[in-house]
Amino acid sequence: MTDLEIFLAAPRGYCAGVDRAVETVERALELQGAPVYVRKQIVHNIHVVRDLETRGAIFVDDVSEIPEGATVVFSAHGVAPTVHADAQVRRLDVVDATCPLVTKVHSEAKRYDARGYKMLLIGHEGHEEVVGTMGEAPDAITLVETAEDVPLLPAFSEDQPLAYLTQTTLSVDETRGIIAALKARYPWIHSPVKEDICYATSNRQAAVKELAKEVELVLVIGSANSSNSCRLVEVARESGAASHLIEDETEIDLAWLDGVSRMGLTSGASAPERLVRGVIAWFEQRYTVTSVTEVETVHEDVSFNLPRPIRRALAVIDADAAE
Ligand code: SF4
Repeated sequence: MTDLEIFLAAPRGYCAGVDRAVETVERALELQGAPVYVRKQIVHNIHVVRDLETRGAIFVDDVSEIPEGATVVFSAHGVAPTVHADAQVRRLDVVDATCPLVTKVHSEAKRYDARGYKMLLIGHEGHEEVVGTMGEAPDAITLVETAEDVPLLPAFSEDQPLAYLTQTTLSVDETRGIIAALKARYPWIHSPVKEDICYATSNRQAAVKELAKEVELVLVIGSANSSNSCRLVEVARESGAASHLIEDETEIDLAWLDGVSRMGLTSGASAPERLVRGVIAWFEQRYTVTSVTEVETVHEDVSFNLPRPIRRALAVIDADAAE
């Protein structure tokens, strides 16, 4: 068997927002029993979705598919206010698992809108997070996907207050270029007080950049609809390594390994760690894996509280148990 050294990016995999969203569905199932309805994929990973389905979660595209009065969990990507309104009409019991860092962008959008700003949202058309954020101020937000879009944007006058926001899971480097183009066209444009691209996205991109310097090939575990996973592939390629996105070990093409003796592995923010272990085990059956080395660029210790309805229900159980 051929020798292979494996290098693991750190941090990789679950971020605090995904961890919270998945645990929210798990707790809702424990507390209320099946079924628990979830609007859209709770996080963009097919393995996570299938696993929760086997435990009794039912994923729907729209709240109109949910029986009146049932419990619904909103996904980590956030929803537009119209979705909350629709849920209210159906008297749904809502558990909102929107990541707090996405909620922060929604709050910015609402604040700017209330102050008469027009906003340019840097993001990917159709992504659930973008749909949700734009829903906060549909008449005030224009989407910008690339730096090439900037000359095509409206010619706002200088007395029109203007701000930009970004999706949380973009490429840090690419977004920098789009922001530079916006600032060149609209020098008075306001920046968010704190970067909207989240810590997990930035950290995983920084980690894969370092990893790509060490290896010939980087495999990224994640689903094709996971924005941050797709960005990791792009960053690895821009940093000089070949790179491919895989759902799991079944998608590995051995031809990618031709001439490769040092391989990197990382995973998107919605991919569970067990998939990384599965890929390593797959290689161990086919290669002499001489080492598995973690390349840590930053240590993460971020965590978020579960949504309030879940915390309240757990507190009641704890109080009953203490009596
Ligand atoms: S990637 Fe960032 S914004 Fe998205 S869920 Fe994770 S922490 Fe939240």
